[in-house]
Amino acid sequence: MFLEQFPEDGKSHGWLEIVCGSMFSGKTEELIRRLRRAEFANQSFLLFKPKLDNRYSDKQVVSHAGEQFDAINIEAAPEIWKHWKNQKIVAIDEVQFFDSSILEVVTKLAAKGVRVICAGLDMDYKGKPFGPVPSLMAAAEYITKVHAICVSCGNLAQFSHRTVKEDSQVLLGAVEKYKPLCRNCYNKIEH
Ligand code: ZN
Repeated sequence: MFLEQFPEDGKSHGWLEIVCGSMFSGKTEELIRRLRRAEFANQSFLLFKPKLDNRYSDKQVVSHAGEQFDAINIEAAPEIWKHWKNQKIVAIDEVQFFDSSILEVVTKLAAKGVRVICAGLDMDYKGKPFGPVPSLMAAAEYITKVHAICVSCGNLAQFSHRTVKEDSQVLLGAVEKYKPLCRNCYNKIEH
């Protein structure tokens, strides 16, 4: 699998990896998998997530499957500098909730030799690019788009359809209010 081609060891330069996709696509599982592997290699890392994400637990990044890592909650991307002490890896989950300042922070980290791994939604429930994620994808060396399974037809899904009438882009603690759909099934629904 091409994921194994990342130059994880023995390189002094930094880079940016993006793991993106819809809800239920396994983004956080993939982020956790990469951190777990780094942990086995004794590579130091920091894991951040936005403060507004309260699901399951405040201080941990938890996959739907229940695997977890301790995370540092921050409100704004520049707070990363208060915590970073030359750790080799900086990971950020739910990166779509940060503002555009995240791009400058991760670019500077990569320039300092850090491997930066960002995971997040690439599109909101309306199918529009989500927050800073498009910019991060443009700047990244490696992009992994993961997919869910369409609950209507079983094809690969990339849209997070919201099943309740709520217009805000952010609807927290409401995983059950979404279902993954493929393009074809998503387009059959009135938005
Ligand atoms: Zn479908």
